[in-house]
Amino acid sequence: MTQTAILYEQPAPHVARIVLNRPEARNAQDTRLLYALNDAFDRAAQDPNVRVIILAATGPHFSSGHDLRESAADADMSQYPTVGTWCGFECAGAEGRMAREKEIYIGFSERWRNIPKPTIAQVQGKCIAGGLMLVWPCDLVVAAEDAAFMDNTVSMGVGGAEFFAHPWELGVRKAKEMLFTADWLTAQEAQRLGMVNHVVPPDRLADFTLALAERIALKPLFALKLAKEAVNAAQDAQGRLPAMQTAFALHQLAHSHNMLVHGLPIDPSGMSPAVAGKGRG
Ligand code: ZN
Repeated sequence: MTQTAILYEQPAPHVARIVLNRPEARNAQDTRLLYALNDAFDRAAQDPNVRVIILAATGPHFSSGHDLRESAADADMSQYPTVGTWCGFECAGAEGRMAREKEIYIGFSERWRNIPKPTIAQVQGKCIAGGLMLVWPCDLVVAAEDAAFMDNTVSMGVGGAEFFAHPWELGVRKAKEMLFTADWLTAQEAQRLGMVNHVVPPDRLADFTLALAERIALKPLFALKLAKEAVNAAQDAQGRLPAMQTAFALHQLAHSHNMLVHGLPIDPSGMSPAVAGKGRG
């Protein structure tokens, strides 16, 4: 636990690279990592010398999702400087859970999606459930040939990850199949569906992504901001935000149901015993 969970690099002029650095845990996201990641995004957003931000990960896998083994002490929100306006993190029942997930899950992902600078996700290996909530908020996605994506939350008795962008990322049919089956989506299939911009050999992933970032960083930043804002506005005009807020409410309903029926925020019947015993969801 001595190493830094998030690295911040400047590999080229006007390019910041933020790196998930918990490879021993397959870059599982605990609360501390998410706040460190948020700090790094804020630093890059506010640095006038940064025009493009890369989000990368060390180790063979991008991210295994939310850390379901995090201790209650580490998850205690009172030790973190909350950035949203929601409150009641210490409350019992659905009130506290909703507050927490509104802040660090849907809240962070939405916040990062709206950073007024181009962001590029650089993905290798497995990217599972909460891992998608780091990739999808980025503007562009470069994947290694070995990258594979999965949302297995239905197996846990929940209807989908908290940042429910599946229909926009994949189209409605593939979104349903991904959720219903929890099958892997390959990098090549994700590219065909428009979720991934480029698929490259693993040994070229970092160089290719950096070259793309450097090329974008040559453009005027204000025009980049406006282009991003315009595309995001087009997506929001299709009803993205209210649909995702509905999905988030359904996600909270699932947690509450599972607590009542199973005594856990997830349904343990579809999970391995080790994970089911701890699940925070
Ligand atoms: Zn949840």
